[in-house]
Amino acid sequence: MVDLAAHNVSKTMNQVNESHRFKIGTFDCTVVSDGTFTYTPPTFPPPTTFLFANAQKEDLAQALHAHNLDPEKWTEWISPYLCLVIDTGENIVLVDTGADGLGPSTGKLLQNLQSNGISPGDIDTVILTHGHPDHIGGNTTSEGGSAFPDARFVMWKDEWDFWNSEEAELKLEHGKEVLLGFARGNLPPIRDQIDLVEHETEIVPGVHAIAAPGHTPGHMALAVSSEGDKLLCVSDAFLHPIHMEQPGWHAAVDFAPKQVADTRRRLLDMATGEKVLVFAFHFAFPGLGFVTWNGKVCRWQPIDAGKTRCK
Ligand SMILES: [Zn+2]
Repeated sequence: MVDLAAHNVSKTMNQVNESHRFKIGTFDCTVVSDGTFTYTPPTFPPPTTFLFANAQKEDLAQALHAHNLDPEKWTEWISPYLCLVIDTGENIVLVDTGADGLGPSTGKLLQNLQSNGISPGDIDTVILTHGHPDHIGGNTTSEGGSAFPDARFVMWKDEWDFWNSEEAELKLEHGKEVLLGFARGNLPPIRDQIDLVEHETEIVPGVHAIAAPGHTPGHMALAVSSEGDKLLCVSDAFLHPIHMEQPGWHAAVDFAPKQVADTRRRLLDMATGEKVLVFAFHFAFPGLGFVTWNGKVCRWQPIDAGKTRCK
């Protein structure tokens, strides 16, 4: 069993589960929801093919049943969009900016930050794990300027180059217009604030960039550590807990499926090698849990936020 007390997991009670506070060593961390988005046909393929594009039907049905999902009745994927604030004492870091403008139930990041007493000016570092709409959509204000004018933005160089090149125009398939629209609206306005990383490096003390390509060309994970406590932010390397069980089942939106599988296996090794809390952007709120081996298969073990101490 995982000892939650060792991770000092605590929760700020919030009626609609829009934030969740916890500690990593001396770092104060807060999961802050940007809202949820419903992926539903005909705009998107049904979740079974959207999330597990290459899975064999029988194998997938078995995996889904184990998660109490009926493949015939699971017609829409309602995904949380979960950002993260890490207050290290030296820096206040925001990981991803949500999807302002994508739908009526997204774009709640700023108001949920305010509810936690955090204003945009408090944030000195914004890490963009990749350039998809749900991760960069809150970069700018409705007037088109930077929503975090005093912050240093950090992104992997391959990712920035991809979205600012014709390569994106040529190579994207699924949802191309929306993807390009968000990239064009949310990346050029922060051009003067961007700091690109090209190798695995420390972004601020205690927060390391981990190369996790595949979902997008320069997708980035993060390793956070303080006083021996560790948090691994996997972002979209895993969109659903079943991806941890079946790292070879890629999503329709994964840019390079073979690379996705390699990245997932490396992250699973990191998550299971020593006890590491894992944070996944699209998993059920608050997106936190542990990965454990069950025979030869990894399993997601979400923290039971309801049982943790309320402040
Ligand atoms: Zn995403």
